[in-house]
Amino acid sequence: MEAQRFDTAKIHAGYNPAEHNWAISVPIYQTVAFELDNINRGLELFSFNSSDSLYTRVTNPTTEILEKRIVKMHPGATGAVAVASGMAAVSYSLLNVTGGSGRILASPRLYGGSFDSFEQIFKEYGVQVDLVPDPDDIKAYEEAIKEDTKCIYIESVSNPNATVLDIEKIAQVAHQYGIPLIVDNTLATPYLINPFEFGADVVVYSATKGLTGHGNVMAGIVVENGKFNWNKDKYPQFFKTPYFLNDLDGTPRSFLDLFVDIPFTGRIRAVYLNYMGAALSPFNAYLALIGIETLSERLNKQLDNTKKIISFLESRDEVAWVKHPWAQGSPYKKLAEKYAPKGAAAILSFGLKGDLDTVHRLLDSVKIFSLQANIGDARSLIINPAQTTHGELTPEDLQAADIDTQTIRLSIGLEDVKDLIEDLKQAFEQL
Ligand SMILES: *Cc1c(COP(=O)(O)O)cnc(C)c1O
Repeated sequence: MEAQRFDTAKIHAGYNPAEHNWAISVPIYQTVAFELDNINRGLELFSFNSSDSLYTRVTNPTTEILEKRIVKMHPGATGAVAVASGMAAVSYSLLNVTGGSGRILASPRLYGGSFDSFEQIFKEYGVQVDLVPDPDDIKAYEEAIKEDTKCIYIESVSNPNATVLDIEKIAQVAHQYGIPLIVDNTLATPYLINPFEFGADVVVYSATKGLTGHGNVMAGIVVENGKFNWNKDKYPQFFKTPYFLNDLDGTPRSFLDLFVDIPFTGRIRAVYLNYMGAALSPFNAYLALIGIETLSERLNKQLDNTKKIISFLESRDEVAWVKHPWAQGSPYKKLAEKYAPKGAAAILSFGLKGDLDTVHRLLDSVKIFSLQANIGDARSLIINPAQTTHGELTPEDLQAADIDTQTIRLSIGLEDVKDLIEDLKQAFEQL
C-alpha cells in the first residue's frame, strides 16, 4: 500500500521489506560498489539508463530509501538527493542553479555558514550574491532582482529569532521574473511547513538538525517538485549534452532529456555529488531514517515546551525581549499562523539585560541546557549567536540578521519542561 499521510510516510514510505529479505528495519548497505553481473547491465548502469545502485558516492539503496521517504513527506515533490551535510545541500543547490555565473538574491536572515559561503566560495565560482535589504518587504525583492539574477534563496523560518518569511509572495515575485525560489526549510522541517505548497521550486535541508533530531548525524537533502522550466537561455547548464550523458548508442542527451521530472536533483547527483563527492554514508542515511520516524512526535513536545519557556522568559526581569512568533507582540504571528499553524520552530531567542559579561555568566550557569553550536537536538541547547554561530558576520550583517551581542538562542529539546524552566531560573538567580 502507498503511504499517503505524513505520519505514515515518515515510517513506511520508500521501503518494501519484501525487497530486502523481509527486514523490518531498513538495512545498512555498507558497501562501496555493486556487482554489475554482466557487461550489458554494467553499461546500462554507467549510462544512467538504470537507477540501480552502482557506486555509493552517487547511489546507495539505504540512502535511496531516505530520499524516497523525504519525497513522500513533501506532497508535490518529485525527487530528492541526499548529501553528507546541510552545507553540501546548500552549496550544491546554489552552484547548480547558477552554473558558474550570475547572481543569487538572498535573504540576509540566513544560517551563518550559508552567509559566509557567499563571500568565501561563490565569488571564486563567478557568482555574486545580493542581499535583500528587508526580507519582510516583498517590493524589496522585486527591486533587487537584476538581469542575471538566477534564483531567490531564503530560509522559511530563520535562526535565531524564528522569523517566518512570506514564502508564497516571494515565490510569486520569483516566478514573475522567471527564476526559481530555493527555500532552506531546516528549522521548520516538512512537518511544520511544506514550502512546495506555497510555490517553492527547490527545498534544502540540513537534516543534521530537527529533521533527524538526535544530534548524532550529519546529513543534507535537496528536494524538488520538477515544475520549474529550466529550458531557457539563463540556465544553459541544464540543456548542455555532456559526453557522460550519452545514450548507449552515442545519442547526446541533456540533463532535461535524461532527468525529466527531476532535472534539478538529477543534475546535482550526476555532477556535484559525482565529482565533488560529499556523499552521505549509508550508516548516516540509516540514522536519519530512524530519527525521522519520530519527527512529528518530537516536534509536538518540543513546541509545547517552547510555548511554556516563552511564557517563563516573558515573566523575568532579566529578560529584555523574547523573539518567536508566539512571543508577545511578535510581528510574525500572522505569517506563522498561515505557514506554520502547528508552530514555526522549537527555537527562540531572547535579549539578556546587562552586558557581554552577563551573557557569559548565564551561559556558564545553566546545567541542563547544553552550550553548543547546534539546533534541533533532543537535548535543549543554548548559545550566544553574535560571538559564535554568526561570529563572522560584520556588525552591519548582524544588524540585518537581527542579532545583537545580548541575543541568546535556545533550541528546545524533549526534557521535562519544569526542569528546563528551573534550570534557567537558577541561572538567572546567579546573575
Ligand atoms: C545547520 C544549518 C545548515 C548547515 O547544515 P550542516 O548539516 O551543519 O552542514 C544550513 N542551513 C541551516 C538553516 C542550518 O541550521
